[in-house]
Amino acid sequence: MAKICLRLTAKTVERDLEILEKYRKYADIAELRVDCLDPDERFLIRRFPEQAGMPVILTIRRSKDGGQYIGGEGARINLMARGLAFADTDRRRNFAYLDVESDLNVPSLEEAARTFGTRIIRSWHNTQKTDEDLPGIIRSMSRLGDEIVKVSVTANSISDVLNLYRAGKECAGTEKILVAMGNYGMFCRILAERFGSYLSYADAFSEPDTVPAAPGQIDVRELTELYRFRNISDMTKIYGEVGFPIKKPGGPDFFNTVFRLEDIDAVFAPFPTDSIESFMELADELGVAGMSVTVPYKETVLPFLAERSPPARIIGACNTLIRDSQGWFGTNTDLQGFSDSLLHFTGRTNLKRKRVTLIGAGGLAKAAASELHRLGAKVLILNRTLHKARDLALPYKFAWGGLGSRGVEMMEYYHDIIIQATPAGMIGIDTDDTDGTSYPLDTKYPMDILKMYRFSGREKVMDFVYEPEMTPFLKRAAAAGCKVINGYDMLIRQARNQYAVFFGKDFPEYLLPRVQFGKN
Ligand code: NAP
Repeated sequence: MAKICLRLTAKTVERDLEILEKYRKYADIAELRVDCLDPDERFLIRRFPEQAGMPVILTIRRSKDGGQYIGGEGARINLMARGLAFADTDRRRNFAYLDVESDLNVPSLEEAARTFGTRIIRSWHNTQKTDEDLPGIIRSMSRLGDEIVKVSVTANSISDVLNLYRAGKECAGTEKILVAMGNYGMFCRILAERFGSYLSYADAFSEPDTVPAAPGQIDVRELTELYRFRNISDMTKIYGEVGFPIKKPGGPDFFNTVFRLEDIDAVFAPFPTDSIESFMELADELGVAGMSVTVPYKETVLPFLAERSPPARIIGACNTLIRDSQGWFGTNTDLQGFSDSLLHFTGRTNLKRKRVTLIGAGGLAKAAASELHRLGAKVLILNRTLHKARDLALPYKFAWGGLGSRGVEMMEYYHDIIIQATPAGMIGIDTDDTDGTSYPLDTKYPMDILKMYRFSGREKVMDFVYEPEMTPFLKRAAAAGCKVINGYDMLIRQARNQYAVFFGKDFPEYLLPRVQFGKN
């Protein structure tokens, strides 16, 4: 079973011990990053394993390998020797592992380590890219049977992660640690067991005085509690969220909490992906059981499906994949998520005789348009790119227009329900504001619609954006007396529908108050 290794990167030994104490229950091994210690503190490392009370890796990482050690090699070797000196016959008082780079050749040091039961981790680092011949590198480094080979490379694409996974499989007989640095590699840390890695490195993100997290690193508590790393075995079903960029994935919070509460042997990981082709290859080889598909792959994933549901066929986009005996089956839970939310919000069972404005013609607007048509609404579609509004409107015989003042005029005839389906007002679009109130609607989003439409107070207004809870548009509507709702309700409803697709049964409603989507 893969182990969790907590990286200790504070400036003093005392602080590293404090951090270890706080997170002890989440880790199996600690890595003392001597290179991060203040120079004077480096003389205090010998007693660290005894003080730590758990197996410790002694690592002095050079700056060229991504560490903080900038001194000469002689001094670095002396420091390692200091860590191993006066070895105790009680092995628990010695370092359990010594990380030695593959190009460091000091036989006396290694011999001293082995004599007192310290295992050598022979490490290879590439801070720029993923080397092509990883199996060759792994084989060339496995010198002695009791050594662990470590390969830490930078994944610049999902195909780099695929190569790492294949190298792990090809070298299944070698005890090894595999690390893919960078955003694409984060899920390798979660799925270390399936990658055949001896351990997974994790950090204590909440400790401000440690080395800041780099892309792809993971918090030790999150790894243990949210992803339930210790429960992941060959039998565990893998699910995940595929998209790019996945800045703040919501699925892991929602699904992993459900898996824990329902005692389902499954894990849900974020899969940031630059190439859907490479990811689908990796998903096949990893045996991924199901996926939530987000922007920009909802349409490009279609060629990989053996079969698609009527909703996915109707709008030509798919947000949920499940593997069955034929291959991938794709469906779209956005449609029902949207209509369930809208009907609940308006207190209706259909939208006959209701006049609706839909602002936007993107992926979610397509799902909304299809459902508005099914429910019998009369709809006006307004969009920045005019031809997209027209293309979406024509098959349903809806009205369409642009986002300027003419659009505002047309809205006067479609104002029972107004639906905002663009990213306008979303946190982090082009400002650093955290509540969305200072969002400059008139710079990046020159949308007269959002600023000029005069609410009468009778409109029901839905905004697909849910962060912030109240977009400037919703605030204006609410101030005029309109009933408003943001996109969170629809999001959670589509996730419940995804659960039903993944597991072939209804979402257990008793869980609802206990799960959140990306808000933990
Ligand atoms: P999408 O496919 O990228 O569509 C984006 C839409 O917004 C298009 O109509 C686009 O117009 C318009 N747009 C983008 N930038 C604009 C600008 N600067 N000015 C005017 N219009 C602009 O996105 P989607 O998947 O449909 O999602 C739409 C929004 O829903 C997301 O941005 C997000 O805020 C929110 N969302 C909600 C949920 C939920 O479940 N509630 C889930 C995911 C996302 P053009 O056609 O002219 O490009």
